[in-house]
Amino acid sequence: MSLNLPPGDMPAEEFRRFGHEVVDWIADYLTDPGQMRVFPPFSPGHLVDALPASGPGEGEPMERILADFRDLIVPHCTLWNHPRFFSYFSVSSSGPGILAEALIATLNMNGMLWRSSPAATELEQVTLGWLREWLGLPERFFGMIHDTASTSTFHAILAARAMAEPESRERGSAPGLVLYTSEQAHSSVEKGALALGIGRQNVRRIPCDAAFQMRPEALGEAIGSDRAAALRPFCVVATVGTTATTAIDPVPAIADICEREGLWLHVDAAYGGHLGLLPERRHVLAGCDRAQSFVVNPHKWLFTPIDLSAFYTTRPDVLRGALSLVPEYLRSADDPRAINFMDYGVPLGRRFRSLKLWFVMRYFGRNHIAAIIRHHLELARYFADQVAADDRFELCAPVPMSLVCFRLRDSDEANRRLFDRLNASGEGFFSHNVLEGRFVLRFALGNIHQRRPDVDAVWKLIRTLI
Ligand SMILES: *Cc1c(COP(=O)(O)O)cnc(C)c1O
Repeated sequence: MSLNLPPGDMPAEEFRRFGHEVVDWIADYLTDPGQMRVFPPFSPGHLVDALPASGPGEGEPMERILADFRDLIVPHCTLWNHPRFFSYFSVSSSGPGILAEALIATLNMNGMLWRSSPAATELEQVTLGWLREWLGLPERFFGMIHDTASTSTFHAILAARAMAEPESRERGSAPGLVLYTSEQAHSSVEKGALALGIGRQNVRRIPCDAAFQMRPEALGEAIGSDRAAALRPFCVVATVGTTATTAIDPVPAIADICEREGLWLHVDAAYGGHLGLLPERRHVLAGCDRAQSFVVNPHKWLFTPIDLSAFYTTRPDVLRGALSLVPEYLRSADDPRAINFMDYGVPLGRRFRSLKLWFVMRYFGRNHIAAIIRHHLELARYFADQVAADDRFELCAPVPMSLVCFRLRDSDEANRRLFDRLNASGEGFFSHNVLEGRFVLRFALGNIHQRRPDVDAVWKLIRTLI
């Protein structure tokens, strides 16, 4: 009877065999992640058309599934671990992080409560404590993990609103709250405000100086005129390492204003925060210890597989007061050491993400990670120096981190043409931006596989394609 023999999971022997095959594929791939095209040559819909319209009724052999992974899926991938990936922010995973991901899926814990996952809950506290120390942030920062910086920043704005307007939990938000960020801030700030019903017209994009850093005087003036109009300023989001140019807002001066005005200060350091690991660059985090919340993404520059965003706040009590709703089936005994992370965020279910950060931090150690980041800073400087020395090109922004924004001294059209040729070549993958109304190319370093020959090859390619 089928009651005694229900259909089950993959048999252990089969798992072992294909597990070895998958690990071999991963190891081969990581030995030379630059072999394939970094960006696929297909137009949108190509993969959809190549796959069946319906899922299979009967199971298929693993051989066929893995063959299709190799022959169909991988060729349609933009390869983020590729050393010629210079787009967006160049991020990569790493061996220990990849191994941890397999173990996370194996345990399949849901970290909503301490009781549902003691190890996930406590390792989240331990790893974020280590990271806080590595970055030189104060001990009063309570840490928790989210999927992305967008989610972390959303929670920061939510906490800021709860602080300014505790009655919003019951009554909903009253109109008139105003949030401030720079014109260079990441779109996740505005999106967080949108999602919380703050309204786009209540997000002030404060002007920047010539180095793309928020102008604190302009911030002070905007707050003053909003107060005069009987509006209610409640939150300022500063950025350490903007996405456009890695500019660093003057956080100490912004913190002065926030303290004077009684506003919540959130620092978005999704990428740039990692410079806190380097004693000689830690000054980029000056003033961040005065923020009420802070976000840094180990999946950006700490070689941790996507997704892992570290969110810190000095006021977990405010978040909890705003969000905690405990249905009876999730009620557990009150033990002060048992944190239930579901009380501090929107998601109930939470992946065991801390395991991959723990593997990465332990396997490499702080000094090795700092050395890789230093190498990226040197490579960026090296590339920027060559751009600056060639009078057909110009740098479009200072290079304080590992991103170089540059362009041909020519029309936008010529720059766009160069950009299209570069990406069509499959030899490098770039992203673009518009800075001060002009088209610029972004050359981002930060991938664990990037070496000087990659930079040399791409600089040569750029000069042959103009
Ligand atoms: C990448 C980035 C974000 C968004 O990160 P996600 O984790 O993809 O949401 C936000 N802010 C800055 C400064 C970033 O560089």
